[in-house]
Amino acid sequence: LEETPTVLFSFDYRVFVNRSVPLENIKCYGFDMDYTLAEYKSPDYEDLGFELLRDRLVSIGYPHELLHYTYDPTFPTRGLVFDTMYGNLLKVDSNGNILLCSHGFTFLKRDKIQDYYPSNFIQRGNTDRFYILNTLFNLSETYLDGCLVDLFTRCSRYENCQKGFKHGDLFMSFRSMFQDVRDAMDYVHDTGSLKESTLRNLDKYVVRDLNLPVLLTRIKEVAKVFLATNSDYNYTEAIMKYLLETPPGAKYPKKTWRTFFDLVVVDTRKPLFFAEGTVLRQVDTNTGKLRIGTYTGDLQHGTVYSGGSSDIVCELLDVKGKDILYVGDHIFGDILKSKKRQGWKTFLVVPELAKELQVWTEKNREYKHGQPPLHDLTYFLMWGTSPCVLQVVTYRMDLSYGQMGSLLRSGSRQTLFASQLMRYADLYSSTCINLLHYPFSYLFRAPPVLVSPTSDIPVIITRTCISSCIKSLAEITMKKKCLPDVVQMPHESSGDNHPLDFPSPEFSVLDQIQKIAEAKV
Ligand SMILES: [Mg+2]
Repeated sequence: LEETPTVLFSFDYRVFVNRSVPLENIKCYGFDMDYTLAEYKSPDYEDLGFELLRDRLVSIGYPHELLHYTYDPTFPTRGLVFDTMYGNLLKVDSNGNILLCSHGFTFLKRDKIQDYYPSNFIQRGNTDRFYILNTLFNLSETYLDGCLVDLFTRCSRYENCQKGFKHGDLFMSFRSMFQDVRDAMDYVHDTGSLKESTLRNLDKYVVRDLNLPVLLTRIKEVAKVFLATNSDYNYTEAIMKYLLETPPGAKYPKKTWRTFFDLVVVDTRKPLFFAEGTVLRQVDTNTGKLRIGTYTGDLQHGTVYSGGSSDIVCELLDVKGKDILYVGDHIFGDILKSKKRQGWKTFLVVPELAKELQVWTEKNREYKHGQPPLHDLTYFLMWGTSPCVLQVVTYRMDLSYGQMGSLLRSGSRQTLFASQLMRYADLYSSTCINLLHYPFSYLFRAPPVLVSPTSDIPVIITRTCISSCIKSLAEITMKKKCLPDVVQMPHESSGDNHPLDFPSPEFSVLDQIQKIAEAKV
């Protein structure tokens, strides 16, 4: 206990736990680069990605009006699903129940949603039709999908049809539009235009955190460290130099970035890397070119490899899968595959958590001071138990996170992203730097749960509270101070709980209202 730093109690610095991980047992730490070691500045980086994609579409023939659109970071949330049949962006839960639906930038009401999806449900296993926009790179793409639907819906030259738009004898389906955006995304990545623009202006697009070299140095004192990135050698070299090597003119001795790692693998082609992988080659670090033939020798320090597989990494580093903690930002390519196929311990970097926790903390503070949520309570009670009003209140609260709401929730329901995070990430945090706040002997302890930690929001409500609440609005106002006392708050819970376990204050109030309403009936 003496070792436990006080900083653990600040959400910004915390690492959250789904399954226990004793750091003492970790013999090897693996890191992804993009959005993991290299944190890209939001929204500047997404803005850059959006402009490159938009300009590419115009260059292949999309209307010039598209150039009027600029990236709006308040619109997209990661993890949305694009329906290539009807052109809708959907926020869904783990079972495919629809939480939110937009057509372009128009949010659809329940009856309209049911016209498209009669059971308010999608078969998300139908990956041919439904595409999950799960990565941080997908954010600009998500917004562009919205822009295209918005543009053609408004444009008088085009006729709106159920599955696309008509212009004379030309039909443009939502599916073909979506595919064009996907192709533009591949074009921007493959031609290296996004990378070039990033490298031209590193200060603008990449966060340089001086704690990163400190973290890697400390890890290397107790365990092995490797880097496994899908990026090519030249880009990796430029980014890692910027992040890890001492700035020009600094007085302290210069250490090359490769010395922070026992093994560096570029062009990994994850998720393939966690299965059969590709041919392992050596990279000539002077020219950036690959050596021909497959590398078969022992691990050489300072050597950079290209391709390979997770099995080869284990072999070269002489570690077993269970001894590895792998840190990445891609829930499918980094976390799901390394856990399911290789049994690695996983740490998911979720940069959005910083904002999610900030909103949560602010709402919590307001709640404690008895401000807006009480207003919602009285408002709701004035209107009885109408689900419509409940939806309005929930929607307004979700807006605090952005137009598409929280990455993790919609009202009291969890998103698909949240359910995947809980299933595959043993640990998660807004940045990998937060590992620095824990000693390497630390035991990340999962909260004890019965079956599922996500089945219900733990709200404790007493009979006294219910009866006092239903008497009258005036009385409720008087009794408002009793609410915080009966709702279990995160700081009162034990263990390394996570934001998904915390009843967000406003939803606790809503849950209570529901119960009050039930009690009334
Ligand atoms: Mg990444």
